[in-house]
Amino acid sequence: MRGLNTPIYILPAKTKRYIGRDAQRMNILAGKVLGETIRTTLGPKGMDKMLVDSLGDIVVTNDGVTILKEMDIEHPAAKMLVEVAKTQEDEVGDGTTTAVVLAGELLKKAEDLLDMDIHPTIISMGYRKAAKKAQEILDDIAITADDEETLLKVAMTAMTGKGSEKARKPLAELVVKAVKQVEENGEVDKDYIHIQRIAGASVDDSQIVDGLAIDKGRVSPLMPKKIENAKIALLKYPLEVKETEIDAKIRITDPSQMQKFIEQEEEMIKEMVQKIVDVGANVVFCQKGIDDLAQHYLAREGIYALKRVKNTDMKRLEKATGGKIVMDIRDLTEDDLGEAEVVYEKKIFDEILTFVEGCKNPKAVSIILRGSTKHVVSEVERAVEDAIGVVSAVIEDKKIVAGGGAPEVELAKRLRDYAETVSGREQLAIQAFADALEIIPKTLAENAGMDSIDVLVDLRAAHEESTTMGIDVFSGEVIDMLEMGVIEPYRVKKQAVQSAAEAAEMILRIDDVIAASETFK
Ligand code: ADP
Repeated sequence: MRGLNTPIYILPAKTKRYIGRDAQRMNILAGKVLGETIRTTLGPKGMDKMLVDSLGDIVVTNDGVTILKEMDIEHPAAKMLVEVAKTQEDEVGDGTTTAVVLAGELLKKAEDLLDMDIHPTIISMGYRKAAKKAQEILDDIAITADDEETLLKVAMTAMTGKGSEKARKPLAELVVKAVKQVEENGEVDKDYIHIQRIAGASVDDSQIVDGLAIDKGRVSPLMPKKIENAKIALLKYPLEVKETEIDAKIRITDPSQMQKFIEQEEEMIKEMVQKIVDVGANVVFCQKGIDDLAQHYLAREGIYALKRVKNTDMKRLEKATGGKIVMDIRDLTEDDLGEAEVVYEKKIFDEILTFVEGCKNPKAVSIILRGSTKHVVSEVERAVEDAIGVVSAVIEDKKIVAGGGAPEVELAKRLRDYAETVSGREQLAIQAFADALEIIPKTLAENAGMDSIDVLVDLRAAHEESTTMGIDVFSGEVIDMLEMGVIEPYRVKKQAVQSAAEAAEMILRIDDVIAASETFK
């Protein structure tokens, strides 16, 4: 029989376990550290980070979610915050740094409350109430607008400080044009905006294609370089002699049989090409391969063909040209063909591209982004993607808020008033939530080299008069953000506050961490 002093193992011996306050402190610390790490990148005056992976590849960026994705984070609670950034990115495409900095600060303020012996459940209840109230306040201060000028300002605000400074205006114009082009019934499917990155020129040389640009050239130099009045077949069917699925042996007893066999294969290819000619196509985009013989016949017929086109490009082509992707060439009919005014090949720097312009239904577009080097283009691409996200959000919701810390200060102010109406210790949690929101204007000021306390005092005073007063990080003054043209989508703020609050709440509720030992090195 076991003595009372013999330990009973219910978990493997190597498991690490943190209980109660230890678990909370550890998780809060992880969240705080993460928030502080990316804090320095917030806003137009934020710094960049250089991330080097195990292969020595570098990424230089200012984009919150990119930093977090590249950071190879191990701590489970910190990973939960990375998820916040990813959700923010997926849902609204911007505001990732804001969301994580806010979540980190909410955890920091919660720690102070824990030190005052306030139970985590009460803190999370208070946070939840505050988050709900914050949504109501945001609804109240949101402004209805979706005119061209507003869209441009929103795009420019999202791109401020992201390495594309000099070309911000032309890029914003490109983005607004692209998003408007793909908008259908008030909704924007961002997948139909394709960004093609090409180094070797200035960012100013970026352009929007009146149609699509596919990063491939024609399969054979014998094909025409340009086709006017293109009739386009979209095939998901290989134009090659099919390999048998099982290893088959064909026994040939005399040379004429060999000849026949080859002829028969040739015949099959000829038939496929004939089918394309018969339906009237003069351009073929094939998602599968096109073998040499097929290329030869296609070229002889004056057909322009691309092989191994990506699935996403095929879908965009389908959308833009009004054609239909055909799975089996035998089913191809004239009705399946898409149309474009012109299809041609062009080399830009070191990339050969196929342009499909003057499409029937141009609900899919390409943007060709340029930049002096690969790293510059990548950073510009991230800025443009954020801009596409915010412009789409405003087109869909038709609602905006001021930027530059204005909404956060207003939320903090009204939440403090609200806290007065709540009794018990939850009141302290709501006040902590209000304080935490001010981390955004504080950080914007600090990153701009301003005195954050002075700025906050000025901001609070200014908000007695107007809800849209924020920080001009360039002049160091507190001014009206709407007049300055610093505008953000309502959805970005709404989502950032909500997901930061939810993540903080979730982390606070954990009082026991049981982990296989490898998780903590
Ligand atoms: P995020 O990933 O959260 O979008 P950013 O680094 O893009 O982070 O910073 C966004 C913050 O910078 C927002 O609070 C926005 O209002 C503010 N901001 C953008 N442009 C300006 C500006 N010209 N002046 C002041 N604040 C600005």
